[in-house]
Amino acid sequence: MKIVPALKKLLSSHKHIVIIMHTQPDGDALGASLGLATFLRQKQHTVNIIAPTAYPTCLAWLPGITEVIVCSEGQQTLCTERIKKADIIFCLDFTLLDRINELGEVVKNASATKVVIDHHLDKENFADLTLHDPGAAATAELIYQLITDLDEHAQLNKDIATCLYVGIMTDTGSFKNANTTPHVHRVAARLIELGADVAKTNRLIYENNSLDRLQFLSFAISQRLVVLPAYHTAYLAIKTSDAQRFNLSIGDTEGLVNYALSIRGIVLAALIREKEDAVRLSLRSVGNFPVNVFAKAHFAGGGHKHAAGGTSYLSLQETTAKFEALLSANQRALEAAYEA
Ligand code: 5GP
Ligand code: MN
Repeated sequence: MKIVPALKKLLSSHKHIVIIMHTQPDGDALGASLGLATFLRQKQHTVNIIAPTAYPTCLAWLPGITEVIVCSEGQQTLCTERIKKADIIFCLDFTLLDRINELGEVVKNASATKVVIDHHLDKENFADLTLHDPGAAATAELIYQLITDLDEHAQLNKDIATCLYVGIMTDTGSFKNANTTPHVHRVAARLIELGADVAKTNRLIYENNSLDRLQFLSFAISQRLVVLPAYHTAYLAIKTSDAQRFNLSIGDTEGLVNYALSIRGIVLAALIREKEDAVRLSLRSVGNFPVNVFAKAHFAGGGHKHAAGGTSYLSLQETTAKFEALLSANQRALEAAYEA
């Protein structure tokens, strides 16, 4: 079924809508969700926005963010109830139900019409309607398109423009990554015309460090960075005690992996972070080394070709050992990516 006519029909009468994003939501997951929520509320629908886990403090200023229900903060019952009662559930910035933890089962079993809007390479067919475009740089870019397709006279106000702009800015690494197409710039230009403030959003997101975070950055690069020139790889392994020592809050390791990737000759970078219940991996690459494939094959994860994530239930030390062993197995691919 075509998503635009189907949604137009569905949205022609009042609906109870849930918008849900992936765990550890980033600028795109939040920006796309909040932008869509504001548009749907303008159309008089009742909208609940759910984040499975908490969002980073650097995004706590986004217009409408106080409306987000964070499930892991004691809101499981409320979230389950809202999902069960919804007429429509929008799943934004993910396609795999395990990306929303235990809420995956609730969404799967819900009677609502399920709509997936996403740009990841992963795919799981649980939705009734899908707008899935791995060629898009951000889900926020797809939401912009969807809103304008649904209503050519849509009031894309400053709040919507700001949220969608943040999604695109963060998922393109500030318009620097390989996913930055002419279309991305066209959409961003339109969002700026509609009120997104380029300097202010940049400052609020990227120049809003705590001193602790900056000192952590210095510590991580000087003490925790491992460079393996033979594999064109660099990684940082961060212990729970490191995070405690520098009072890290959610989102404080965001961007750290890019320092490893920025080293000359490096094509694969990883941030391997010990958490309470597991070890999380953040992977980045350049050229022809698909980290989504690597993450899916070895760390139950996925994502994009150049940015992916995964999980390990081994110890931090065992995880880094496994990672290094995998580098050896992938040496030819890493070499080829470097030479290309
Ligand atoms: P990050 O390293 O910034 O957490 O994630 C990079 C990209 O990979 C994001 O687009 C994110 O949605 C995706 N990603 C991160 N972790 C996972 C995971 O465990 N599974 C899947 N399928 N995607 C992930
Ligand atoms: Mn995204």
